[in-house]
Amino acid sequence: VRTLVVIGAGQAGAETAISVRKHGFGGRIVIIGAETHMPYERPPLSKDLLTGATGIEDAYVFAPGQAEDLQVELMLGVSVSAIRTNDTTVDLSDGQSVSYDILVLATGARARELTVSGSDTTKIHYLRCLADAEHLGAALKTAKSVAIIGGGFIGLELASAARKLGANVTVIESQPRLMTRLLPAEPADYLAGIAREHGVSIELDARITHVSDKGVGLGDGCVIDADVIIAGIGAIPNDDIASAVGIRTDDQGGILVDQVNRTNLPGIYAVGDVAVRKERPNGPSQRMESWQNARLSAERAARHITKHGPAVEDGPWFWSDLFGATIQIFGKTDADMPVVRRDGETAPVFLGQDAIGRVKCVIDFGDASALRAAKALMANGQALATDGSDLGDNEEDDMKQ
Ligand code: FAD
Repeated sequence: VRTLVVIGAGQAGAETAISVRKHGFGGRIVIIGAETHMPYERPPLSKDLLTGATGIEDAYVFAPGQAEDLQVELMLGVSVSAIRTNDTTVDLSDGQSVSYDILVLATGARARELTVSGSDTTKIHYLRCLADAEHLGAALKTAKSVAIIGGGFIGLELASAARKLGANVTVIESQPRLMTRLLPAEPADYLAGIAREHGVSIELDARITHVSDKGVGLGDGCVIDADVIIAGIGAIPNDDIASAVGIRTDDQGGILVDQVNRTNLPGIYAVGDVAVRKERPNGPSQRMESWQNARLSAERAARHITKHGPAVEDGPWFWSDLFGATIQIFGKTDADMPVVRRDGETAPVFLGQDAIGRVKCVIDFGDASALRAAKALMANGQALATDGSDLGDNEEDDMKQ
């Protein structure tokens, strides 16, 4: 019997196990995970779970009894310390070892830590796992003022949650606008407007000089008072055990994989946040940190392992719940791309274009029908109509399933 070992009991690891079984893998499946919890999806950690509206059970990847039904063995609360490719075995932190025929690395990423003066002596919250969310949720219950370092999605979701819980909130961003990694200027500015309407103060172009128990010091001499400081400044892929055995990694971090998520070593795959892949064979390599990518990369690897044809690919899709609205981003965004705004019935839609006017991405703030129309334009490689009629009426379609 062949053994498939998955390192990392997060979303992508669990989805890989589910997918290989779905595609007929009859061997042994072992998932090894450093956290003690059943594999869970992370999006609720910065949203409903943080505010106490939902519990972790709602976020589990396996339905109740599903892991047993699929005969997936879970070794939780123990991490893989080394991969030994010569004898196809992984060593665990508790002294055990497990042999594999096929290995899937699904080790995800960890929160990047702040390094400014005072960060080693001040309590800074980070958010990557359930334990982080529990500590932060408890701190936010009594917080009067919250400083959030980083104006990306995690930072804004936390701002939204902290406002819901009644705190004064300041978001501190070093760039001249929010969301520089994910959004072009117009939708980013629109989002900043929504955040301000909900009472969030935003400091752009800010240079942090130090942090202390009083708050966050800025280059202009101001101190943002805060009894809770949170940093959402990006994630670092957990690729160390891979690079230690000659699995190729990217200069920016992450494990390099091919179109079906194979690494350079035979029988070893990487999926989820840790994988760096080219979306097109000759395109740029990129690491995607999203729920959709965790699922799709697992499906790709599972189909290859079980010798099925390629997975059905969809363009990159990301969503976030912010200040009572759901924002969805579909397609490849670029910070500098030209953007056209269309005011739909419920909320504006932003369409990003390439150099010859074809629609390449759509960012909507709750108008799912316009999103669907925009996706059709993208699929057909169409340019926008000059009279703005192209996002006409469509059936309601919510991509979240
Ligand atoms: P993870 O879910 O991080 O799982 C990796 C697991 O591997 C971890 O449990 C880790 O402990 C374990 N591990 C690491 N090294 C080892 C080792 N050596 N041995 C054993 N175990 C190991 N995406 C969206 O699309 N929309 C959202 O709204 C959204 N919100 C998010 C909010 C938060 C707070 C976070 C953190 C992420 C959010 N994401 C969102 C991103 C999405 O959750 C991730 O892309 C997804 O979790 C990636 O899954 P993964 O399995 O690759 O990694």
